[in-house]
Amino acid sequence: MKNPIKKNSIYKQAILALVIFIGATFFFSLFLQSSEKTQELSLGELVARINLGEVVKIVVNGNELRVDLSNGDKAISKKEEGADITDVFSNYGVNLAERQVNIEIQDESGLRFWLGILIPTILPFLIIGFFFWWMFRQAKGGVNQAFSFGKSSARLFSSFRDKITFKDVAGLKEVKQELEEIVDFLKNPKKFLEIGAKIPRGAILMGPPGTGKTLVARAVAGEANVPFFYMSASEFVEMFVGVGASRVRDLFDTAKKAAPSIVFIDEIDAVGRERGAGLGGGHDEREQTLNQILVEMDGFDRDTRVIVVAATNRPDILDRALLRPGRFDRRIVLDLPDINEREEILRIHSKGKALSKDVDLRRVAVRTPGFSGADLANLMNEAAISSARENQKTINQQTILISIEKVILGPERKGRAILQKEKEITAYHEAGHALVAASLKDADPVQKVSIISRGRAGGYTLKLPLEEKRLKLKNQFLADLSVALGGYVSEEATFGDISTGSSNDLKEASALARMLVTHYGMSNLGPITFGRQHDMIFLGREMTAEKDYSEKTAEEIDKEVSNFLKLAYMTAKKIIISRKKALKAIANALIERETLEHEDFYGILRPFKLKPVAI
Ligand code: ADP
Ligand code: MG
Ligand code: ZN
Repeated sequence: MKNPIKKNSIYKQAILALVIFIGATFFFSLFLQSSEKTQELSLGELVARINLGEVVKIVVNGNELRVDLSNGDKAISKKEEGADITDVFSNYGVNLAERQVNIEIQDESGLRFWLGILIPTILPFLIIGFFFWWMFRQAKGGVNQAFSFGKSSARLFSSFRDKITFKDVAGLKEVKQELEEIVDFLKNPKKFLEIGAKIPRGAILMGPPGTGKTLVARAVAGEANVPFFYMSASEFVEMFVGVGASRVRDLFDTAKKAAPSIVFIDEIDAVGRERGAGLGGGHDEREQTLNQILVEMDGFDRDTRVIVVAATNRPDILDRALLRPGRFDRRIVLDLPDINEREEILRIHSKGKALSKDVDLRRVAVRTPGFSGADLANLMNEAAISSARENQKTINQQTILISIEKVILGPERKGRAILQKEKEITAYHEAGHALVAASLKDADPVQKVSIISRGRAGGYTLKLPLEEKRLKLKNQFLADLSVALGGYVSEEATFGDISTGSSNDLKEASALARMLVTHYGMSNLGPITFGRQHDMIFLGREMTAEKDYSEKTAEEIDKEVSNFLKLAYMTAKKIIISRKKALKAIANALIERETLEHEDFYGILRPFKLKPVAI
């Protein structure tokens, strides 16, 4: 969105420059023309002309004499500096009155006179200056920072554009409570100090990307009646070495002067990474910046009423020194929204959008487990965009549901030509996933199967739990594993060969199986976890856990993982082999129709009267 606007203004400026340039040329030519016609006369020549009776009028302007000749021509001449005009001519023995020459004395500051002098001399500088200014504007961001690099560019948020308050933040009740408390600390410190409570130094917001950390911080700024300084940690380490630390110093100085105040450092992991953990060089700058933050926080005396709030989605990589008591000792965790919160977020982001009457946000919330606030905001925007593109006046439910898949999997790539053979393989692969899912008692029901490729996936099978689950059982995990291998098994059983299309399934299945062993104690190794635990599993990312077990245990873990995968494989195989006809029916329907919705899919299976299978 930014680029076209920028381009536009560049065009505008270029056109402006051109217009000025043409204007200037026009001006010059005016002056050149007038001086072309006028001849220059020496004083002697002028006297001669006067004597010949050829001069009608002389306009005296300072030392310049502009002469109108009787034949209509114009001429220019000069007299000495300061000399009186009548004296000059009488020295030559000319009586002006006698010669009927009209003398006009003009004020020296005559506009034309000054323009005549100024424009030719100054205009070129103006034009050059303008071009420099224009070029600087283009490079503004970088240049400005180059000139003010030691200063923090912390912004006083309360004076920031549109105000956001807690009303604009859905859910996150505990988070809001904690933050309100912090604002309260700043406003009425007495209440807390009298009872012996220490005012906290810092709080850190932790949560996956898009859960509203930045949003909630802005809301605090809107709610708090204290100055609120906002800065993204990546801004600390921007251009020059040594800048970060001085920016930190400046930021805290400003905040202390404005106390009571809140300093918000967004994306603190950009500088707060565990020190000494960087690969290769180049992390010095970051370390210095981090050290300066620590120094500043330690330097607060008991009465400094500045609270530092930071946000990160990578608490696992933060330097432990940051989390020590006296620094960011309050940790506020933001989770992905649950179904009620999702509905609320959807409602907030439907404001100002024309929804049609059939829209049921609750059902949208049901269909979007695992979506972050940012995903949901994005979803509503996608739906609005598609509706506008299809010239609909309002956004309807169907458009929103289609947009969900777009957000999860990327846009459909209908245009991509697929070879007939590939289409067949994909159809059997997805049919395999879907059939296994539909057969297992503990698997989530199939919402949709499709062989239209989306994003990187060749096809997809969408399964959704019936209800929001807080806990998941071992049997459900095992069912997930079998479903994940369903595609692989189906390809193998149908074509006697395996394609590369299963690689992602295998990766996910392997990771899940390993989690069952090392995190959930669901294997034969019993109730134990392996690997140094990070307390932030909610990030859902693959951890590079520190090994805290022997080689022998490692072998056992591998064996358990492999057992889980084997069990899943056998289960999937049993289903696929014994229900080949159903598999074929699904695959054929997919080849023909490409996408099967929930009802279509279960409709195809109905004649087969499949019984639920337990693992
Ligand atoms: P983070 O900083 O945690 O990565 P942001 O605060 O930038 O996430 O959130 C991105 C966007 O997602 C917000 O601008 C907002 O539109 C939307 N959003 C996220 N969480 C919520 C929420 N709880 N309520 C309303 N909107 C939300
Ligand atoms: Mg953010
Ligand atoms: Zn697959």
